[in-house]
Amino acid sequence: DPRLEAISEAIRVVPHFPKQGIMFQDITTLLLDPKAFKDTVDIFVDRYRDMDISVVAGVEARGFMFGPSIALAIGAKFVPLSKPRKLPGKVISEAYELEYGTDCLEMHIGAVQPGERALVIDDLIATGGTFSAAIRLLGTVQA
Ligand code: 5GP
Repeated sequence: DPRLEAISEAIRVVPHFPKQGIMFQDITTLLLDPKAFKDTVDIFVDRYRDMDISVVAGVEARGFMFGPSIALAIGAKFVPLSKPRKLPGKVISEAYELEYGTDCLEMHIGAVQPGERALVIDDLIATGGTFSAAIRLLGTVQA
C-alpha cells in the first residue's frame, strides 16, 4: 500500500522515552499531518467495513484518538476501554501485567451486548498485554 510509507514517516521515534533503552513511537506527529491521519483511518475503515462490526472499542488513551473516527465511518458505536476509576457507571474490569506491577482496563456494563462483533483499536502493540486484556474484557460481556 503506497500510503504506508508516508504514515510510517509521520510517526516520530523518540529514543529513551519514557526511559533509557525504549524507542518510543510517537503518534502525535501523525495527528499533525491530516493526509497521513486520514489515510490511517481509511486503511482501517477499508479493512473492517462490511464485516458486521457493531462496536469499536478504543483503549485509553491513544485508542481514543483513532477509534471514534473509524467507528463513525463503519457505522458502529464507540466504547471506551478506560484506565481505572475514569468511568462513572458500573464497570467490568480486566487486569493485566506491566513490566512493573499491574494495570487494569474497565468498560461500562451494558455498553456491549452478548453476540456483538467488536473491533479493538489502540495505537501500538508492544508485549500484547494491553491488547490481550482488551480482548478478555470484551469476552466477559454478559446480558
Ligand atoms: P503492551 O501492553 O503491548 O506491552 O503495550 C502497548 C500499550 O502501551 C499501548 O496502549 C500503547 O499505547 C502503549 N505503548 C507502549 N509502547 C509505546 C510506544 O512506543 N509508543 C506509543 N505511542 N505507545 C506505546
